[in-house]
Amino acid sequence: MGATPSIVWFRDDLRVGDHPALHAAVERGDPIVAVYVLDEDSNGVRPLGGAAKWWLHHSLASLAGDLRDRGVRLVLRRGPARRVIRSLVDEVGAGAVFWNRRYGGAEREVDAELKSGLSDDGLEVRSFGASLLFEPWTIRTGSDTPFSVFTPFWKACLAADEPRHPLPAPSELDGFGGADGRGGPAGDDLDDWELLPTHPDWAGGLRETWEPGEPAAHRRLRAFLADDLADYATGRDRLDREQTSRLSPHLRWGEISPHQVWHSTRERAAGTEGARKFLAEVGWREFAWHVLFHFPELATKNWRSEFDAFPWPRLHPSTLTAWERGRTGVPVVDAAMRELWHTGGMHNRARMITASFLTKNLLIDWRRGEQWFWDTLVDADHASNPFGWQWVAGSGADAAPYFRVFNPELQREKFDPDGRYVGRWVPELDDGDSPEPIVDLRETRAAALAAYEHVKAAK
Ligand code: FAD
Repeated sequence: MGATPSIVWFRDDLRVGDHPALHAAVERGDPIVAVYVLDEDSNGVRPLGGAAKWWLHHSLASLAGDLRDRGVRLVLRRGPARRVIRSLVDEVGAGAVFWNRRYGGAEREVDAELKSGLSDDGLEVRSFGASLLFEPWTIRTGSDTPFSVFTPFWKACLAADEPRHPLPAPSELDGFGGADGRGGPAGDDLDDWELLPTHPDWAGGLRETWEPGEPAAHRRLRAFLADDLADYATGRDRLDREQTSRLSPHLRWGEISPHQVWHSTRERAAGTEGARKFLAEVGWREFAWHVLFHFPELATKNWRSEFDAFPWPRLHPSTLTAWERGRTGVPVVDAAMRELWHTGGMHNRARMITASFLTKNLLIDWRRGEQWFWDTLVDADHASNPFGWQWVAGSGADAAPYFRVFNPELQREKFDPDGRYVGRWVPELDDGDSPEPIVDLRETRAAALAAYEHVKAAK
């Protein structure tokens, strides 16, 4: 009898350390086939935006290198995941398929169908928790319902068993077909997927700003813990400082696991205010996924259904374009939108300010802004992005009260007191050359509050 290889299906977990599915394949003993599937036929799985594709390309290149060094070739296949995985199973005569779980509604359907089909065929199919510290169905309120408010949710998480310790990265792997994969299944060339922009190449700012891949994710975490964690609690809201971890794309793509972040932070600084606050932010990520798991339509439907009555006025498309391109005449909004366009990233406070401006001053439906962020953020996340948008718009879980409309001018004074952030992205201000805001902040705020009366009436 020859070996029956184990397939490890990589998805949003582009790493070799703390990878339970890879670990299980090593323990099983037979040779390993590592595969990533670009599934654009999607079955309801949301197609990636442009900046996300850029990140994915580099992250896959990095993962392929790390796997090759250990003796496994990463096989790249394109097509509907159900079909691709099944045909790979037949091709290599696999005895097992392992993956780490995904939590979106469409993703879960694909995975469940594959799992039952392959198990019926006699394969060993196992899925593992790897992207979240707390599985979304395990954290429940006293009345056995999902949580809809963050603070009690996070309290319940902290009262649950501590997240497991990270698994070590395997130093050597037994690759099916050898490390160069010559005896294994064929795969696509990463360049042929054309994930990188070419005409035009708009990714210069992304390249300057980010370094995708697992090794870079760990360097980022180490640098943050050493240099910035101590002042995180007080400085995290400042737009003009790089006080936050900038780990979000690394977490989004699973180049680092939340377990690694959790335990490294606790080992370094347990009991400090910085560690408590930082891990609570990681907790917001958990909460966003908890909400998405229980409400899979988070990116398309109001979480609070009474918001369906909100009368979004029809506005000229140029208003949305002005916001997207950072040409609203409101300096802090324009700075943030230009930062996003140039770098694929944006500070959390700036995300709140720009989202509030779009939904409450321009009175544009949050879904339009969410889609723009989805296309332009390198950390565009199935849960955190729609969750963040609905939180700001007022339609989401634990949302701020609707009447709390951010005043961008006050926000700027508070979080960019010397004007360094705005000055960097809106240099024309220094030349005294600032355009008029495209809307009157006070008038539009009043209009938003009037529109909100419809939501109140629908309650
Ligand atoms: P840190 O402050 O260092 O926090 C550590 C980690 O905790 C982050 O890397 C992130 O994974 C998580 N985190 C922090 N704050 C939040 C939060 N409010 N919600 C969920 N997770 C959080 N985050 C994304 O990862 N992807 C998105 O697509 C996304 N879209 C957003 C859209 C809007 C409108 C808003 C208001 C927030 C959004 N966020 C999103 C959350 C947050 O802005 C980013 O996670 C954060 O700015 C990333 O910077 P950081 O890694 O330096 O964060």
